[in-house]
Amino acid sequence: MTSSREDGESDAESDAESDAESDAESDAESDYENDYENDCGLGGCLPGKPAVGIMKKSPQLQKLEETMRGSALAARGFLGNDRRSLPEIIETDLHALARLGYTKEHLASRMQELTDLGRQGLGTAVRVEEHVEVTVDEHRGQIVCPWPHAGRFAKTVTTVRRLDTGEEMRWAELSIHLVAVHGFFQGRGSPFRLDPQRLVRVLF
Ligand SMILES: [Zn+2]
Repeated sequence: MTSSREDGESDAESDAESDAESDAESDAESDYENDYENDCGLGGCLPGKPAVGIMKKSPQLQKLEETMRGSALAARGFLGNDRRSLPEIIETDLHALARLGYTKEHLASRMQELTDLGRQGLGTAVRVEEHVEVTVDEHRGQIVCPWPHAGRFAKTVTTVRRLDTGEEMRWAELSIHLVAVHGFFQGRGSPFRLDPQRLVRVLF
């Protein structure tokens, strides 16, 4: 049975990988507390600077990505099963958005507007426009932005449904911030992934 060798090898590989991940976790967490300065490491956060094309090779983003891949934050699903680098994820989505003729700020302010309108329903669906229905569920507690700055967000979940197409999008308050400030729509396979194309289709 020489063919079993391959299986043995891949088992060993994944074991090694998970060990490495749990080792990295505590390091990443202490870095998160100590090393980051008060900016997000993304040129895109700074007013007046273009967000696209200048975020490659940022050591801060690389650290942030390592933190996100650590199990503590991965549990919240920021990156999903996306194996692309964090700068690549951000840049690809911002390019897609630009091709559609929207900015992240424009998108985020529309998301915020719908969340604010939906809040009036106190957990029940509110028809806020002819073709748009919004439900906002408030959850106890707060969640922090994974970027290194003071940012806490209510665990509010907004569900927007288009009555004309039946299409739905869902986001947390943190997601609005991640889009507006960091241009981060979360990774593929994340439960809170906001595909820019779908988002534009549902919101406008
Ligand atoms: Zn942030």
